[in-house]
Amino acid sequence: MEKRFYSFNQYLREKFGKRIHRISLDAGFSCPNIDGTLSKQGCIYCNNKAFSIHTRKIIPLREQIVQSISYYKRRMKVTNFIAYFQAFTNTHASIDDLREKYNVIRDFPEIVGLFISTRPDCIDKEKLTLISQYQREYLVWIEYGLQTTHNRILTLINRNHTYEDFLKTLELTRSYGINVGVHIILGLPQQSYEEMMIDAKRLASLDIQGIKFHILHVLKDTLLENWYREGRLNLLSKEEFVRIICDFLEIIPPHFVILRLVSTANPAYLIAPKWINQRSEVLHQIEKELEKRGTYQGYRYRYESTSCPH
Ligand code: SF4
Repeated sequence: MEKRFYSFNQYLREKFGKRIHRISLDAGFSCPNIDGTLSKQGCIYCNNKAFSIHTRKIIPLREQIVQSISYYKRRMKVTNFIAYFQAFTNTHASIDDLREKYNVIRDFPEIVGLFISTRPDCIDKEKLTLISQYQREYLVWIEYGLQTTHNRILTLINRNHTYEDFLKTLELTRSYGINVGVHIILGLPQQSYEEMMIDAKRLASLDIQGIKFHILHVLKDTLLENWYREGRLNLLSKEEFVRIICDFLEIIPPHFVILRLVSTANPAYLIAPKWINQRSEVLHQIEKELEKRGTYQGYRYRYESTSCPH
């Protein structure tokens, strides 16, 4: 481990022997938690008005890729890329639509990986069969938004899926040999420190390959904004977040790839906490804290995972 955690950059260097850049794509998908399939409200923290399919400006996929590749080639001198289908629920469409959109990457020899972000209740055998076919030529990951393993909190934040849904999906996805990343939010409403540590212990015991961390933050025009204005939210301070993320890292196995440690938000929409956009500073504080403790990702893994309170 070059750092005290297994960074995504390090993982990619080990796989490809060089720096690889991930380009974020908006393929124009919607989300079942917004389009009425499950709900019209969305998750309480999701700004589904600002990012709605009806109002967002979607540049054709090919054009997005051309622009990103040329920008990052010039700016960062990288030559290879991962296509990251990131916006909304990237398996929420017909199989033909999915195939057509994923196949766009085949026109770009610079692309070496396919990452698909989705919900755990939005996948089936047919979609997994399609996605698994890309494994012959590409590094393939599916990232599932789980956010927490506690059903009480999943209900509170209007996710409309359960932890058990995720466990079934994980087993099915791994049966196709596809890498699984999990999105986790720290600091959710009514979530105690102990519950976050239970999340860490539960994930530590699963066959997942990576975690992407989010810090709960309030965006304009969300239900969470109302809660914030009504004084119903305790957002994490920078110091609390640093302590919690270090505790979390110590519990999870050293081989979990940290797909992202510190999330940021569009300043035009961000209400609080503003510190999340001081990304380098927060990363520095995390490194310093782990150094002070003399610990690293996986430090407590052996002991904690055998005493997990499922
Ligand atoms: S699943 Fe994602 S896109 Fe859908 S409402 Fe929740 S945060 Fe928004």
